[in-house]
Amino acid sequence: AGKVSSLTISFGSQPVISDVSVDFYKNQIHVLTGPSGSGKTTFLRALNRLNDCFEDCRTQGEIELSLDGTTQSVHSLKPQRLPELRRKVGMVFQHPQLLPGTIKENVLLPLKVVCGLRGEAAQQKLCSAFNQAALWDEVKDRLNTPAHSLSGGQQQRLCLARTLALEPEILLLDEPTASLDPETADQIEVLISQLAKRYTIVMVSHSAQQTKKLAEHVIRFEHGRIV
Ligand code: ATP
Repeated sequence: AGKVSSLTISFGSQPVISDVSVDFYKNQIHVLTGPSGSGKTTFLRALNRLNDCFEDCRTQGEIELSLDGTTQSVHSLKPQRLPELRRKVGMVFQHPQLLPGTIKENVLLPLKVVCGLRGEAAQQKLCSAFNQAALWDEVKDRLNTPAHSLSGGQQQRLCLARTLALEPEILLLDEPTASLDPETADQIEVLISQLAKRYTIVMVSHSAQQTKKLAEHVIRFEHGRIV
């Protein structure tokens, strides 16, 4: 599904990722582990060019991802292609990043802005995304209530549904269970293993138990290098 070659990322003069090379495999789960500050999130953000948001960030090396059946060089993409890249390489952040508004609006707004979808077509994608995120039964009768009224685990799944609605090919998950109680974390882990039937997953985890349970590939970072 992709290949990272000799990736080096610096903020100012400070290298944070040094000469990292990794292969990704279609519909498999890749878990990034390693101590705090070792570069996991920076690496994850490089895959859909989110580090471009930081003015002092410099990236060298090559990231090639297979998207829509063709290999794309992530770093050669022109700025106008970035929304498309970020749709296909969808990211769910460590803490749920809700949009203001209702549960429904959190999914419908990106569908409208990013894909130009509304009406019945958007409604169908919304339903399918909530089902994939195992959230439909819990929210179907309260779609018009504020998104922040959901529990932590439900908010995390809402963010997942919002990303899935845009039909990505690669899913980036940054510590998807970090702020959840053990039972809800178990539920999300089951969900992640089901999602791997359809998506290539690259996720960050601090939990050895979770890594053992989910990972088909473990990529361990220390001081910005793979060990
Ligand atoms: P954690 O497990 O705590 O989330 P991490 O392994 O994901 O850590 P990163 O968030 O990738 O680590 O950070 C790696 C290093 O890069 C840290 O030293 C961090 O301070 C630095 N860093 C990250 N983002 C920036 C930025 N925008 N500007 C400057 N330095 C940054």
